[in-house]
Amino acid sequence: DYGPAPEDAGPARAWLAAHEDGFGHFIDGAMTKPAALFEVRDPARDVVLARVSQGSAADVDAAVAAARAAQPGWAGLSGHDRARHLYALARHVQQHARLLAVLETLDSGKPIRESRDIDVPLVARHFYHHAGWAEILDDELPGHSAHGVCGQIIPWNFPLLMLAWKIAPALAAGNTVVLKPAEYTPLTALAFAEIAMECGLPKGVINIVTGDGETGAAIVAHDGIDKLAFTGSTAVGRKIREQSAGTGKGLTLELGGKSPFIVFEDADLDAAVEGVVDAIWFNQGQVCCAGSRILVAESVAPRFEALLRARMETLRTGDPLDKCTDVGAIVHPTQLERIRALVEAGRAEGVTLTQGAAPAEGCFYPPTLVTDVEPASVLSVEEIFGPVVTLTTFRTPSDALALANNSRYGLAASIWSENVNLCLDLAAKVKVGIVWINCTNVFDAGAGFGGYRESGFGREGGREGMMAYLRAPSPAGKGAGSQP
Ligand code: NAD
Repeated sequence: DYGPAPEDAGPARAWLAAHEDGFGHFIDGAMTKPAALFEVRDPARDVVLARVSQGSAADVDAAVAAARAAQPGWAGLSGHDRARHLYALARHVQQHARLLAVLETLDSGKPIRESRDIDVPLVARHFYHHAGWAEILDDELPGHSAHGVCGQIIPWNFPLLMLAWKIAPALAAGNTVVLKPAEYTPLTALAFAEIAMECGLPKGVINIVTGDGETGAAIVAHDGIDKLAFTGSTAVGRKIREQSAGTGKGLTLELGGKSPFIVFEDADLDAAVEGVVDAIWFNQGQVCCAGSRILVAESVAPRFEALLRARMETLRTGDPLDKCTDVGAIVHPTQLERIRALVEAGRAEGVTLTQGAAPAEGCFYPPTLVTDVEPASVLSVEEIFGPVVTLTTFRTPSDALALANNSRYGLAASIWSENVNLCLDLAAKVKVGIVWINCTNVFDAGAGFGGYRESGFGREGGREGMMAYLRAPSPAGKGAGSQP
């Protein structure tokens, strides 16, 4: 079964048609009346999919008030009861997996194979994992308490998965949330709101306000928010950090990256080439931890490059709903322009570009390999957030390490070698939050994910991710959060 053929978009299109008057926000357990509508488009076909409300400061106020009112009751449930709600969300996501996967693909342009086999299953997995945390929280982390109301702002590259990464641990810990999806991709969050209603989640526990950066800024500024969590660009992350400084709000930031993909001479080169496909052509390279800088040992570079070029020729870029598509559409024309401008700046520096095929119509960019590129090139330094990868050679492991760490980002690294000691040695020295050895882009709800330096701080997933949504106990007998 290779999944839905294009005609299986029927249920998602029927769902969209049922909301043709536009979507409101999800506040206090119900959808509000649509207002101040803006269009959401399918980037592959350049057609309008839906109209969604631009959240005002008053909408954010209402959402925060609902979250505040619901929070004591939610935190007051036993961990077991919160777990039951999270298990229900996980099961209902699975029941609606087809609808969610097709909607995600229509809205974001990512290949259906990815939304169906990776995004949506990981969403369910995240809720199951955190249901487990709710169940054991009092035993594992006695005396810890929820922050209260969390303001969560997410990007467009993994719309539903980022929602799950934000909401599942927050709820497990006893927080309530006000979440804003990205303006390009709000549809699966709105479908998720319906799932929350279907599951009988208490009203006000999850609130979803749609809109752009202005709506996000209203969440950041709101006095009724106790903790902020943001995933997106480093520029906006910096702004949020400045604006929340001194307010006492908790903050975690998941920002950009320029992650190295290091191939040693003893690596399984065929496997490493497949790794590159996952590292940079997964989700069109619109992945914060994308392996966008290949560093390959000089001695095997010609062979590796030949294998990579041959593999590039077999990649299919095109209709995201086609189950045979490897590389889908870029999320939005603005992002496409940004990729084009960066690649043109690199071309002006004299780099060599090898590009695969891509449809001329629609928001597509071909898989691109950049060679003859200096470490100081704009293409080696800037996060492109597109299907563009640079290739540089190195001679010794210490050269490789120096190149790998030559970045203001520090999110992830992927190391390919049959020498486990070399891999482990390098893993300890490369300044990033996540290291993959002989694999890449492996995500697990039980493992902390996050970066250093301009990639942000804080971890999502696993124990560290839970800690971000909890307050440590105060000294016995003093203040809230203490245990009798
Ligand atoms: P962005 O940071 O502008 O948007 C991310 C989210 O923040 C969206 O929901 C947006 O509405 C919101 N936002 C924007 N301005 C805000 C503000 N002042 N206050 C609060 N919220 C605000 O990202 P983008 O413009 O969509 O993408 C630009 C670049 O960001 C990309 O090219 C890429 O480099 C990077 N990016 C990184 C990730 C990641 O996962 N780390 C995801 C998306 C984009």
